[in-house]
Amino acid sequence: MLECSGTGNMRITIIGTGYVGLVTGLCFCELGHEVVCIDVLREKVKAIQAGRAPLYEEGLQELLDKHLSNGRFHASLDYDEVLRTDITFLCVGTPSRADGSMDLSYLEIATRSLAEVLARKKGYHVVVVKSTVTPSITDKFVAPLLASCSGKKLPKEIGVAANPEFLREGSAVSDFMHPDRIVIGASDARTGNMVKMLYQSFKCPILEVSPTTAEMIKMASNVALATRISMINEIGNVCKELNIDVRQVAEGIGLDERIGKAFLNAGAGFGGSCFPKDVKGLLALADQMGIKPLLMKAVLDVNEIQPLRMIDLLEEHLGLDGKTIAVLGLAFKPDTDDVRESRSIAVVRSLLNKGAKVRAHDPKGMENFSKLFPNIEYAKSAKECVKNAHAVLIMTAWPEYSEEKLYGAKLVIDGRGVVKTKNYEGICW
Ligand code: NAD
Repeated sequence: MLECSGTGNMRITIIGTGYVGLVTGLCFCELGHEVVCIDVLREKVKAIQAGRAPLYEEGLQELLDKHLSNGRFHASLDYDEVLRTDITFLCVGTPSRADGSMDLSYLEIATRSLAEVLARKKGYHVVVVKSTVTPSITDKFVAPLLASCSGKKLPKEIGVAANPEFLREGSAVSDFMHPDRIVIGASDARTGNMVKMLYQSFKCPILEVSPTTAEMIKMASNVALATRISMINEIGNVCKELNIDVRQVAEGIGLDERIGKAFLNAGAGFGGSCFPKDVKGLLALADQMGIKPLLMKAVLDVNEIQPLRMIDLLEEHLGLDGKTIAVLGLAFKPDTDDVRESRSIAVVRSLLNKGAKVRAHDPKGMENFSKLFPNIEYAKSAKECVKNAHAVLIMTAWPEYSEEKLYGAKLVIDGRGVVKTKNYEGICW
């Protein structure tokens, strides 16, 4: 029934070679499959072909070296590569539009390009939506588009499934290889079985649901995590007024088994390409349906205000006009170079608006941040960043920012709880 390679493993196409696509592709190689990753960015594909991972994730470069040299993996600009594979994962971005709804234009273009090639393919093919999408996009948008642009019959000739990804940037390879669960939303049993075969070596629960339910599980998971962060941040803001250290409170509430310890770190708010856009996406969908979701809106509101507390706290100590402020941490979290929706963006913008001079540092995120703020100063090291600054804002919990001696007697406003210094103010403690 399946068209498999000689080793009995599957031949996989990944469309969209970003954080999810490249990690997924290389991890499938690690599981024994053959993978081609397709992207439209020539530079990205060239870098991968030359053996350079175009993004930072622990262990990714090693996987790339290994699977380029054993021939299981390659990258390409050419969609015709799909013809030599059995299954294709769509991993393109699904960013927010201005109104918060999901922009499906990358998914649409990728699906059309894929369908045009599938029109020429002999035999069965499975298409899996791994991008995060609002419920019903796989059934009501991707599947009909594939059918109309390929002229093929679904599900007889093309099977369609949603298989959302739960990896976290910063630990993406490890998360992919050791997931809490796999969620497969297939339109029919044959498709579901084919997707399931890919994950047969995993010991975690595999949940088989409808595509729409799979999509909702992904979005609801991100809403749940974002809600916890905004909840503890709001509690933290109250704690600070009462001279209570919210970190002790988090420890105390986390010991309740019904609550648990994870995701109770108060701080400057959540960023990244997923939580903000997924909460906005579900909120926009609910709005369209005439539901007025109060909680999701509040989660986002708290998160918009939270990083600006850093500025408020700073201004309680000094006027900002003409001052040099060191901003430590630009990536939205440690162990990644991703600055999308980083809370540092709002902080840097506000500092500049108030006439401050910004000197910034991040071990991995400076190149990406400099595309957003080309005119601020970037320091080669945390030490150089802090030197001669009037105050320091810690925005990302990189371990190297936890050295107390880095700061001397300088005013430090800590948005992530990484250090305790002589002249210190914590965001929620
Ligand atoms: P990304 O921006 O890092 O990568 C997307 C890639 O798709 C880019 O390289 C882009 O050039 C490529 N692309 C765009 N149009 C294309 C086309 N027509 N053909 C081929 N390639 C094309 O995005 P990402 O962070 O990997 O996220 C991808 C999806 O996965 C999103 O829906 C996101 O919400 C979801 N997701 C992301 C994470 C994460 O931590 N980043 C985790 C889980 C799920």
